Amino acid sequence: MLGVLVGAGAAGGLAWLRAEDGVPSSAAAEGLNSSTTSTSVPSTPAAPASTVESTTATPTAIEPTTTTTTTAASTTATEPAMTTTTEATTTTETSSTRSAPSTTTSPVGATAGRLAVICREAWRAAPIRGPLVEHRIERLTVHHTAVVMGSNAEAPQRMRSYQSHHQGNGWPDIAYHYLVDANGHVYEGRPVSAKGDTSTEYDPSGHFLVCCDGHFDQQGVPAAQLAALSDVLAWASVRFAVGPSTVAGHRDYAATSCPGSQLAGLIADGTLRSMVEQRIAAGGIQTEVLCGQAGLDRVAEIEAGLL
Ligand SMILES: [Zn+2]
Repeated sequence: MLGVLVGAGAAGGLAWLRAEDGVPSSAAAEGLNSSTTSTSVPSTPAAPASTVESTTATPTAIEPTTTTTTTAASTTATEPAMTTTTEATTTTETSSTRSAPSTTTSPVGATAGRLAVICREAWRAAPIRGPLVEHRIERLTVHHTAVVMGSNAEAPQRMRSYQSHHQGNGWPDIAYHYLVDANGHVYEGRPVSAKGDTSTEYDPSGHFLVCCDGHFDQQGVPAAQLAALSDVLAWASVRFAVGPSTVAGHRDYAATSCPGSQLAGLIADGTLRSMVEQRIAAGGIQTEVLCGQAGLDRVAEIEAGLL
């Protein structure tokens, strides 16, 4: 991880990491954890199970409206091709979970979207060290790792690196509650019931922290990643009863460029908030935590470059 960090070169990256978060949590703390699950959000009637969005993403940078986790989409420029979805191909089975079809979004009236979350054990997170501090979520805050993303097959390894770096800061765990890779896979971080950590000057207490893998001062936000970020935020907005209007970037609270100009721009112009609102209006987002074999299979596929 250090290598990665250093490689990122930028002082910004290092500074950010230093300054960023990090913190505790215990494993299962929150709803999302557990092996199965489905925490969720409003749910809508019923729709064909997966209505996925067929609109696939365009290679462009961001996809305003349509999106879906599952759909893959392309990644931004920087990223070669990959697509993926959070679920897609895999159909994991296992007792506990199964991958979700995909998230639906767009048109109001659609069905609740589904979001697969890779549990800590599946991405081989280290155990939490030290006590966690409880807090109550009051706002939704977006970060970036400030490390230029390379191959998405290495995303799980990067997650471990970030955690290792954060624990090296003396923090009990990775600083964020959830992390999203370039292809839209969502990784469970510290329990949401625990406040995050940061080296910047703001109190992370009350902040639901989602971090996107990448350096958005230097690269665009892949459509699949933006879609998954919106899913996580939509889920959290309903789950913790905090409105989409609280969606902001780290830079809105502390002296940092995080989450990078490109992602910050999507927050500032209302694009992200609007995507979150659309998901909620469409029935919300249901999460399914991938644990056990299902989680291991998912991570193995990501690491093999299949997803
Ligand atoms: Zn940040």
